[in-house]
Amino acid sequence: MTDIDKALDKVLDKAIDDVLADVLYEALTNWKEHPEKSGIFSDLDGTLSKIAPTPAEAIVTPEMRKVLQDINKKYAVVGIVSGRDSTEARRMVALENLVYIGNHGLEWLEDGKQFYVPEAFNFFGLAGNLASELSDIFNATGYFVERKKLGVAVHYRQVEDKEQAKARIEEVLKPMLAKYPLKQAEGRYVIELKPDLPVNKGDAVTVIALRAGIERAMYLGDDVTDIDAFQALRQLRDEGRLQTVSIAIASDESAPAVMQEADYVVQSVDAAEALLRWMSSIPRVR
Ligand SMILES: [Mg+2]
Repeated sequence: MTDIDKALDKVLDKAIDDVLADVLYEALTNWKEHPEKSGIFSDLDGTLSKIAPTPAEAIVTPEMRKVLQDINKKYAVVGIVSGRDSTEARRMVALENLVYIGNHGLEWLEDGKQFYVPEAFNFFGLAGNLASELSDIFNATGYFVERKKLGVAVHYRQVEDKEQAKARIEEVLKPMLAKYPLKQAEGRYVIELKPDLPVNKGDAVTVIALRAGIERAMYLGDDVTDIDAFQALRQLRDEGRLQTVSIAIASDESAPAVMQEADYVVQSVDAAEALLRWMSSIPRVR
């Protein structure tokens, strides 16, 4: 074991509880030995980036960026899978040559080109109009209306009475949901309207993983929309098409189902960083 390995062990074992670290090490041994046949997919906010008071304030730290850069050099494909616009995800991560999947799978950036699920085009104007309308309604302190290409999200993290805020947002969104082909999604102190299309994070990860011809796919996420990706990977595994591992980043804000649906749980964004750093380090026998 080299000094680097020892140092990584220390970080990782501190970040993840001992039992889990051992099980994870074992599960990921093949990945480290064959990164050219493995893909790593990860949610952004709450997984690679700590939750900030508003989405605009969230950042990817230089340390995390370096880790992502290192895994991208070794692994066949690295995909960032976000509810944000893919262009926003790329701005935050600020690395070329990753695949950026945005709007929960409805569009993605790859090799400098942006691709959309065809039906998504119908929602361009609508999302903008609804964002303007919602910005006028939720202009009080504490609310934050996130304007996206294919949807709109109302964040209420900074509102004091969160239960009341949530009820109020749902009340306002109700007629919009009745009027337009949209569906509602909830996350950590955010409620979102998005196109009612049968495409989610799991579908996007499945398509990109299978197309890349990899043998293993990993997914990390912290919130309800990541469950789709956890389930998609499980299905690929059950069908014998890929070896997969899904990892939830624990948070007392997240629905318990997020933790239940993942294969493993790590305790924080720091732990996710430690895990990815270990995955980018030199293969070795533990
Ligand atoms: Mg998240």
